[in-house]
Amino acid sequence: MLELNARREAIKQKIREKLQDLSNEEKELNEEMDRLCNSVAEFRERLEMIKEGVPTMQLKKIATEIHVNVDVYFPFTQLARRMIYEELERRIKEAELKISEVRRRMKEIENKRRGVNICPDCGGQGFRASTCYYVREDDIIIPVTSYDECPLCGGKGRIEL
Ligand SMILES: [Zn+2]
Repeated sequence: MLELNARREAIKQKIREKLQDLSNEEKELNEEMDRLCNSVAEFRERLEMIKEGVPTMQLKKIATEIHVNVDVYFPFTQLARRMIYEELERRIKEAELKISEVRRRMKEIENKRRGVNICPDCGGQGFRASTCYYVREDDIIIPVTSYDECPLCGGKGRIEL
């Protein structure tokens, strides 16, 4: 009994550590999500500015902001404008792909969190097959398994903290 309690406590400790890890990971993902959404918003804003036809000086400023070297195109403002526009579109797509990846990882964390305290002994069933005995019926021998409440989780299927 004492051993079982010690084991349960050790498992609880592991669960707490895993939950902490998941929270940390989630926090990082949330921050990354904020960053990505801000970038997309900024890129879109600049895209709109270009659509509306910003003056060349401002166009150059946008190019510098997104680290695109279009100096060579600048004698041809229309070409530079298109290059920057396409680069912005590319960056938006790139950021949106990253956003879906972050979403996927967030879901993964949610699933892990749901499974984190499932009892390792009974796999969440709350009972365990214990003894197997045989009964004879007419000339057939039938195996019978009896199920006992799982002692580790007390039949709950989960280790409650
Ligand atoms: Zn159990």
